[in-house]
Amino acid sequence: MGWLDVLHGLFAASAECCPVCGKDKRRPSDAFFPVRHAAPRQALQALCADCLGRIPWIVSTACPICGRPERCGDCLRRRNRHFARCRGAVRYDEAMKEWLALYKYRGLEKLEPVMASMLAAAVEPLLRTAGGFDWVTAVPLAEGRLEERGFNQAERLALRIAKWYRLPYRSLLRRVRNTEKQSRKGRRDRLEDMKGNFAVSSEQGPPGGSPPFPSRSDRSAPTAILLVDDIYTTT
Ligand SMILES: [Zn+2]
Ligand SMILES: [Zn+2]
Repeated sequence: MGWLDVLHGLFAASAECCPVCGKDKRRPSDAFFPVRHAAPRQALQALCADCLGRIPWIVSTACPICGRPERCGDCLRRRNRHFARCRGAVRYDEAMKEWLALYKYRGLEKLEPVMASMLAAAVEPLLRTAGGFDWVTAVPLAEGRLEERGFNQAERLALRIAKWYRLPYRSLLRRVRNTEKQSRKGRRDRLEDMKGNFAVSSEQGPPGGSPPFPSRSDRSAPTAILLVDDIYTTT
């Protein structure tokens, strides 16, 4: 066996290994992929049948505003909302918690296409119904956290989404200060904590410090922004 054969064998083996569990397994042909775009489909096809079956897809949304799969009174009650629609791709269960931790904290980069592909399942219906987006942006990390982790997972995922769906990406927000973990707090505390955390990024804006929003004088439609984050906590 020549070295080229060895090299080929190595690549062939890695292509057959699931990026999540590393097991060498072939997927079943009738696997469910809730995305149409070829790139995210391909990333999901790299998963083994076990891992693929573990993804808790949100296939139907009961609340047209926040996209929760069950009926939701919150959105109807709330009059003051700062977003038009929110969509999540999967439920945040134990398996997803584990995958996200592998990617975010253990730096398992090969999980990134899988994560972005799951996100694509939430983005595609929005693209069909919302009539497109002017920009894609991501929820920023505080500087300290960015240094610690080395990357902003939301930004990485948003960049892939922007590339796949040919949408312009811009860093529209910056984090002014950081907060502790939000997941264990009640709604009121979370909202209180988040106040003043974000500001419009001046880096991307025109000189003079005005916000980096496009001039829409020729269009009556409001600017549609797709804001990407890795976890959505119900507010
Ligand atoms: Zn697997
Ligand atoms: Zn809702």
